[in-house]
Amino acid sequence: MEKTDGLQVIRPGLAARAHFPFFSEGPGGFYLDSAATAQKPGQVIEALRHTLIHHNANVHRGAYRLSATASELYDQARQKVARCIGAASERSIVFVRGATEAINLITYSAQHLCKPGDVILLTLLEHHSNIVPWQLLAKRKGLKVVFADITDDGSLNVADFRQKVEAFKPVFVGVTQLANSLGTVTPIEELVAFAQKHGARVLVDGAQGAPHLGVNVEALGCDYYVFSGHKMYGPTGIGVLYGRPERLEELEPFQSGGDMISYVSVDGSGWAEIPQRFEAGTPAFPEAIALGSAIDFLGRFSRDELNKHEQALVRSALEMLRSEEGVTPHGPATVGGAQATVVSFSIDCVHPHDFATIADTHNVQIRAGHHCAMPTLRRLGFQATVRMSFGVYSCEEDLEAVRLAIREARRMFSR
Ligand code: PMP
Repeated sequence: MEKTDGLQVIRPGLAARAHFPFFSEGPGGFYLDSAATAQKPGQVIEALRHTLIHHNANVHRGAYRLSATASELYDQARQKVARCIGAASERSIVFVRGATEAINLITYSAQHLCKPGDVILLTLLEHHSNIVPWQLLAKRKGLKVVFADITDDGSLNVADFRQKVEAFKPVFVGVTQLANSLGTVTPIEELVAFAQKHGARVLVDGAQGAPHLGVNVEALGCDYYVFSGHKMYGPTGIGVLYGRPERLEELEPFQSGGDMISYVSVDGSGWAEIPQRFEAGTPAFPEAIALGSAIDFLGRFSRDELNKHEQALVRSALEMLRSEEGVTPHGPATVGGAQATVVSFSIDCVHPHDFATIADTHNVQIRAGHHCAMPTLRRLGFQATVRMSFGVYSCEEDLEAVRLAIREARRMFSR
């Protein structure tokens, strides 16, 4: 099977591993922590290396060819990001360090749009990075942060969300597309449209959604969409803030210095056009170019097949966990709800951290803890869970390795 650009389609699962030196040259193993960071395809590593060797000159500065080429490649990376998320214009794409920095940027640069007493509505599914910056903004400006509830299986309580939108008329709404703690998929189109209808500007956290569900920001109609390169098979240190152009235009600068100005005089300065206005200092251009390569790589999969593959893994994981004594899976899929790419669970007599340590001796890299989502876990009555999360290279063998680790852990701890 070929894609239109003539490159072979890559099939998810074992076949995809051939593209990841982690499995052949690196430690390999049963890597089940892609929600924290994904492994890197060879072509992304090569893009980084190639850029540093062949195109290393500061961008948007030099009059010489080396700098011009680096600038061109950096601009092309921005175009690739825009195409990947369906943005109508590259002016909407701000390169940042990651989802966390993108949310911090909004909470600083949009603070003049809030007045004391205003409400910010979040949900109990959010990652700490979509909570703490809003709390700090609330403290600075005298605002109130309100949370939409979740149900006992970890789905968003949409009725509560709607009710709070109507009651509080929030100035900002921050909501995840896919929760990293439980894998909950939110009905994001419905939430965005409803909140906007009541006057809110809506920030969608796509840190998990961008790599695992995909997005078309124009169709979604959100005001801002944020994600991190390293979770979508790109390098760390690079991420994206998408903003509708009129939403970026109304923001104050975030960081300031070189590259974000139109002029500087001893009396004051003027700002560059968007998106440069929000990219002070030398950008992580090799990382941005490598993110472009990660986007090319992801484009070699059929999105449909990828989604089906990760869905099948969620179903198999639930089956496997349910077939093991003393194990309880969590999340919406346990009651037929929308869940993707992440499966959290508990084992009756084993602490999650102990399990992760035992699993490691089986070469299973799995996450234990609160997954930077303490309000989610607390609402459901947990301190911590074990979490497996999938990527394009995940397969049934990974689940069997978890099964063996569960059996050993229960043997050790039920003595
Ligand atoms: N939101 C979600 C849903 C996440 O999973 C993460 C990372 N775990 C973040 C935000 C923050 O991403 P980063 O640490 O790359 O800034």
